[in-house]
Amino acid sequence: MSEKRKYKKRYCKYCEAKVDYMDYKDVGSLRFSLSERYKIMPRRLTGNCKKHQDMIEVAIKRARAAALIPYTVTRKAVVAAPFENLK
Ligand SMILES: [Zn+2]
Repeated sequence: MSEKRKYKKRYCKYCEAKVDYMDYKDVGSLRFSLSERYKIMPRRLTGNCKKHQDMIEVAIKRARAAALIPYTVTRKAVVAAPFENLK
């Protein structure tokens, strides 16, 4: 019997992609660890390893400071795929 989870398999996407350095300007790769409200997803949901989660955390905070990612999202602005408009 398998429990139904939102995130099925737990593995680090960034380890798989062999990411050594997280660029805060690379919003496309950061979005794997952002929720639809631009919050940083916890490691227990994404399955990221500690090393990459720390890198992501720093990168996302930098990206927020550089206004690449909003700090907060109002209820009206919430969309299912927030990064579709950015491309
Ligand atoms: Zn990793």
